[in-house]
Amino acid sequence: MPETNTLPLKDRMKIARTPMPELDPEVRSHNFEEVNRGLEAAAALQEATRCIACAKPGCIVDCPVGVKIKEVVALVYSGDFLAAAAKLREDNALPAITGRVCPQENQCEGGCVLGRKGAPVAIGNLERFVADYERTTGQLGLPSNAPPTGKSVAIVGSGPAGLSAAGDLIQMGHRVRVFEALHELGGVLVYGIPEFRLPKAIVKQEVDNLRRMGVEFETNVVVGKSVTIDELMRDEHYDAVFVATGAGLPRFLGIPGEHLNGVYSANEFLTRVNLMRAYQVADYDEPVYDCRDRDVIVVGGGNTAMDAVRTSRRLGARSATLVYRRSQAEMPARAEEVKHAREEGIEFRMLTDPIAFLGDEKGWLTGARCMKMQLGEADASGRRSPVAIKGSEFMLPVNVAIIGVGTTANPLIQSSAPDLATTPRNYIVADPKTTRTSKRGVFAGGDIVTGGATVILAMGAGRKAAASIDEYLTGGEW
Ligand SMILES: Cc1cc2nc3c(=O)[nH]c(=O)nc-3n(C[C@H](O)[C@H](O)[C@H](O)COP(=O)(O)OP(=O)(O)OC[C@H]3O[C@@H](n4cnc5c(N)ncnc54)[C@H](O)[C@@H]3O)c2cc1C
Ligand code: SF4
Repeated sequence: MPETNTLPLKDRMKIARTPMPELDPEVRSHNFEEVNRGLEAAAALQEATRCIACAKPGCIVDCPVGVKIKEVVALVYSGDFLAAAAKLREDNALPAITGRVCPQENQCEGGCVLGRKGAPVAIGNLERFVADYERTTGQLGLPSNAPPTGKSVAIVGSGPAGLSAAGDLIQMGHRVRVFEALHELGGVLVYGIPEFRLPKAIVKQEVDNLRRMGVEFETNVVVGKSVTIDELMRDEHYDAVFVATGAGLPRFLGIPGEHLNGVYSANEFLTRVNLMRAYQVADYDEPVYDCRDRDVIVVGGGNTAMDAVRTSRRLGARSATLVYRRSQAEMPARAEEVKHAREEGIEFRMLTDPIAFLGDEKGWLTGARCMKMQLGEADASGRRSPVAIKGSEFMLPVNVAIIGVGTTANPLIQSSAPDLATTPRNYIVADPKTTRTSKRGVFAGGDIVTGGATVILAMGAGRKAAASIDEYLTGGEW
């Protein structure tokens, strides 16, 4: 049993939240090093002392995968960091990743009782601390696998949904092979989220762990083109397929001038920077659009837009501006990213909507015509909707415009498997409890079912799929 916290409740509640050490904004806005440096052991112990061990912990209720946070924090308090990491891994297969990228303020920390009057326990920072402790001290205990069942599962897509399903299925004794369209494994974790938020080495280590557990990986395979789901099942004899292909097709604004040179999707911009190593500015000739000494705008208010604008700043943009049609209160980006972006000198143009891009005679972008907006009634998303203010048009000088207004499903797999039911927007229809699709033996989860969501929800879907696939393979009816 972890050591019990004997400090009186009122004294625990007086302790201030331990801040996360960060790289200096002036330094970090010129490099791709990780911004958050992680807690030292003494700081983690101090932070764990703040937890008042609630009888009904709101933190657990608000964690999408029900991590036993109270027990994890108690184990940190008692100094048994490895036991804390093991407890965390019971419900969360990728804690070093979620500790860095989860929107904790809307999840576990949002439910922490201490947040009602002050600052919640820094659950995300503690999660990252124990996962890093386990990782960097080389004491990651790999679970053992059940005896081989003789069944095999194909997983399509190596994002958090695919990886967490792979980790569970291999332990259940099934053969698991992950097919990935790109040349690197990890999905958005490697091609979307930049190095300064989530170092690639951490994702690579998780993938290597899965490899050591016996998961097979095959990159550069576009399922639906190189091979179809039917071929995987009929010719390659997979007993089940889990489709976890994400929602990586970028959306555009649909305004005049979007075809001009210098207008890009955030998805393409980030993929090029992340996968073509433009973030290693010292060693690689930047193989992306030159942002140096240019005026860059990024349109959107989510994590993708925030990552793109902070990346453009690091690539040397003269001005890096986020243009968003609502106000900061409606922005879906994580609060920490907004804070970091402001510190790094990103300009925020809220309540602004580009209505046309303008270019020179050679087809290069020179400016964006924008409208000022005001907030009207709440829309279907529950957020107040932006309404254009008549006569408020103005011009912004722009050399590079990056569109980060969301993504949608790539219809490739679905079009090669007509018996796979999809929604009108091309997402795969899957039972929320079992992840079963309309096609026998085929399961689906993550962003390809829900639309763009979060890493932890994709992981949760992967784990649910693994349990459901196991049930099907070990005798369950379809
Ligand atoms: C820039 C960016 C920043 C984000 N920041 C955060 C954050 O801070 N916190 C957070 O919680 N969430 C964040 N998200 C959202 C989160 O990353 C996603 O919700 C999550 O990655 C979805 O996981 P997934 O496994 O469903 O799909 P993905 O991560 O998209 O992985 C799908 C994989 O499938 C592959 N694939 C697609 N089609 C095929 C095919 N036909 N054949 C083979 N392989 C295929 C893709 O190449 C990809 O590798 C962010 C998203 C983006 C784009
Ligand atoms: S809600 Fe906050 S204080 Fe209560 S158990 Fe969870 S982390 Fe501790």
